[in-house]
Amino acid sequence: MPLVGVLAIQGDFQAHSQVLRGLGAQVREVRTPDDLHGVDGLVIPGGESTTMTLGIEREGLGEPLRRLVRSGKPTLGTCAGLIMLDRAHLGLLDVACRRNAFGRQVKSFEADLDLPALGGAVRAVFIRAPWVAEHGEEVEVLAEVDGHPVAVRQGNILAVAFHPEASGETTLHEWLLEQASSTNGGQTG
Ligand code: GLN
Repeated sequence: MPLVGVLAIQGDFQAHSQVLRGLGAQVREVRTPDDLHGVDGLVIPGGESTTMTLGIEREGLGEPLRRLVRSGKPTLGTCAGLIMLDRAHLGLLDVACRRNAFGRQVKSFEADLDLPALGGAVRAVFIRAPWVAEHGEEVEVLAEVDGHPVAVRQGNILAVAFHPEASGETTLHEWLLEQASSTNGGQTG
């Protein structure tokens, strides 16, 4: 089974680790560049993107994370993880995000989202979620809420505005493990 790195600077990384272990994966919590050595895939969890950005800078994780993702390792970003991947942060996903996009009244909600690209509906928990405000041509929009993209894919990166790990949803983690098994060893792209 693949070894998945879960960025553990801040946020709900433990919930992701639990889902991945439940699916039989090996998990390593990533706090320093050394922790990325030998991982077959990566999860960037939800949390607070400003705090996560500062932690990434403090630990010198920016370049090592970019190298890993650019080497083709499958990567899943959720909520703040989507923000971390965008143009203004790690710059790995050709999207601009709007933070806390659903506004004050609708801070948090749950929905069954249709994600045909991943085989059907997923239970999505949105917590002060961003949406994708703008994206480049290489970005495939997989799902929208109110006309705004909330799930996107670009090459080896899958990023969503919601928290799959908070609802017992495993579809996205299964995608990651399948990709990690099939790309075993890494590709460019
Ligand atoms: N609102 C958070 C941010 O902007 C993201 C929320 C989340 O990850 N649940 O960083």
